[in-house]
Amino acid sequence: MQIDFKKVDYVYKQNTPLASRALHDINLTIASEKFTAIIGHTGSGKSTLLQHLNGLLTPTSGAVEVGDETIIANQKNKALKKIRQKVGIVFQFPEYQLFEETVEKDICFGPMNYGVTREKAIEKARYYLNMVGMDESYLTRSPFELSGGQMRRVAIAGILAMEPEVLVLDEPTAGLDPFGSREIMDIFSSMHQGGKMTTILVTHNMEDAAKFADEIVVMEKGIVIQKGAPEVIFSSADELERIGLKLPQTIQFQKMFEKQSGIGLSKLHLNEADLVAEICTLVEGMKVC
Ligand code: ADP
Ligand code: MG
Repeated sequence: MQIDFKKVDYVYKQNTPLASRALHDINLTIASEKFTAIIGHTGSGKSTLLQHLNGLLTPTSGAVEVGDETIIANQKNKALKKIRQKVGIVFQFPEYQLFEETVEKDICFGPMNYGVTREKAIEKARYYLNMVGMDESYLTRSPFELSGGQMRRVAIAGILAMEPEVLVLDEPTAGLDPFGSREIMDIFSSMHQGGKMTTILVTHNMEDAAKFADEIVVMEKGIVIQKGAPEVIFSSADELERIGLKLPQTIQFQKMFEKQSGIGLSKLHLNEADLVAEICTLVEGMKVC
């Protein structure tokens, strides 16, 4: 589902002495069925932007088009219900939003709220719990007796069970260890590849942005300052450094390798496996010589 921001401004606490503008004249198209990463320094407006995708915040001025629906200022909740069914948001630390007494009830809550029968919702709960790497024995457990990582997975399963057309992820791996982070990102990546979903990821992790995104949006102080393919966004460190971001480590390594060896590689590599493969081919060639 395509999303278009048209001249969107957002001001927190408008008409008070504390008013602060968090989004400035955002004109942005997020392509249907693509994986888009949004990067930017803390406070640049990423979470504010995401909350416009299902009308949790409505623009102070301008409009957000989500598929056939349009969100404008002060939209009534009724009109937003349709959009909320199609756009699932995994907020930062989603485990804080668990509230039911069992894992099953928590995952079933969203689908049942949108008219799915209890039987069907339980089927989905099993399926999506498995998808996030937990077996059925957890269904009857209280979410509050699980580990932090398991709670995060249950909360994610609850969003996935809604089977959204647009999946929005606001730093979904924050606070997880590297192994847990990788598992969670692999789940989102395989879901994205397996379906027709539009995925939008806000991340501090440049490796993930490089590895998973078709397109990257760069934000600074409430403005979209760049949008493009990862190869373009990560072609130079200067602009990113200016706004407090770094190149992915794989690309830093490639640039250092090219500088010190004097050998230019065929292209900018966005993941370790591709980089290692090209360097191995080079080394093999040298052995023959
Ligand atoms: P990011 O997700 O990129 O860290 P945010 O969208 O959370 O950025 O914040 C953008 C700006 O809006 C920041 O200056 C932040 O302080 C401000 N802001 C965020 N939430 C609120 C709020 N509830 N009330 C007032 N200002 C807010
Ligand atoms: Mg944020």
